[in-house]
Amino acid sequence: MVTCLYLMPTGECNCICSYCYCPEGGKRGDPDLFRGVVESFTDHIISSNPPVKPQIRFTGGEPWLEKQLLPDIAGLFLRSVPDGLVVVNTNGMLLSADRLGDFRGDERLIHVVSLDGPETLHDSRRKTTDGRGTFHKVIEGVKMLMDLDLPVYLNAVLDTESSRHLPELLRFISSELGLVELSISLLHLDTGQLSPGERYSLLAYAYSEASSRSIRLGGHHRLLLGYWVPELRCNAGSATALVDSMGMVHACQRFVGRSAPDCMWTDDFDWNGFSSGQQCAMVCGSDHDHAVGKKLYNLYREEYPEYLHSHHLDRILFGVLA
Ligand code: SF4
Ligand code: SF4
Repeated sequence: MVTCLYLMPTGECNCICSYCYCPEGGKRGDPDLFRGVVESFTDHIISSNPPVKPQIRFTGGEPWLEKQLLPDIAGLFLRSVPDGLVVVNTNGMLLSADRLGDFRGDERLIHVVSLDGPETLHDSRRKTTDGRGTFHKVIEGVKMLMDLDLPVYLNAVLDTESSRHLPELLRFISSELGLVELSISLLHLDTGQLSPGERYSLLAYAYSEASSRSIRLGGHHRLLLGYWVPELRCNAGSATALVDSMGMVHACQRFVGRSAPDCMWTDDFDWNGFSSGQQCAMVCGSDHDHAVGKKLYNLYREEYPEYLHSHHLDRILFGVLA
């Protein structure tokens, strides 16, 4: 049964990050289509009353380009499904206190904002379409969310270069922003070229640095442990459905533009019976990826046993856990 709906209301973006993995030439979707999808999903959740927290997750492109649709949908869903969550993955450049004011203090509206490192590093890779760095605007947006008492989490890509700046980033988010958690994502463009041992070393270093500052880590790499930690098994394509800006349905955002969609969304979409042909096994990736997961599992067992179970941060960062 689908309990987590991913929405990609637009494939457009106001930034040109050096490593963007979204398909080029992304288009804006039809807002009415997305309103229809959410009304149908909301009816499904109310009638099926699932045992897990239902979620709507916005991804993109930059979802806040849909400045009216996003708060409309979040409001509709959270009013109808009191135990639901709405999670917005955003570059943090278009956050507006005016549009978010109605949600002040609502812990169910969560933002995951991309911040890759200290200013120099962040601005070297995450720029606006006219080439300006985005660091200061992102931090302004993060602080505005905090002022509104809205939950905010940061996600940083982890690669060979950014790992050198990780201690400074950890110090900044802890001392300047008061955060105690961070999501890290292995950057495939760089780390895909590295051996499993080298990718594992990047992660092990990140855990060591984070641990020394009492910061908890999360991120997609946690799903690599799915073989060994059942709570971290990916259930994309049965627990999740993603509707892209063209109205096509996929199991996971990482498949958009890379493999054929499962179907086009229609009013009679079967939320209870959806089973994606794209659904991966317990973890995506090659044997090399699994080798990284095995090493990470052993690291957890030896040094960080608190990571051997799923944590609220995992569920905030991913909708694919059962
Ligand atoms: S903000 Fe996200 S969607 Fe936009 S260019 Fe950067 S990585 Fe791509
Ligand atoms: S389907 Fe694959 S890429 Fe998508 S969340 Fe699951 S493990 Fe990750």
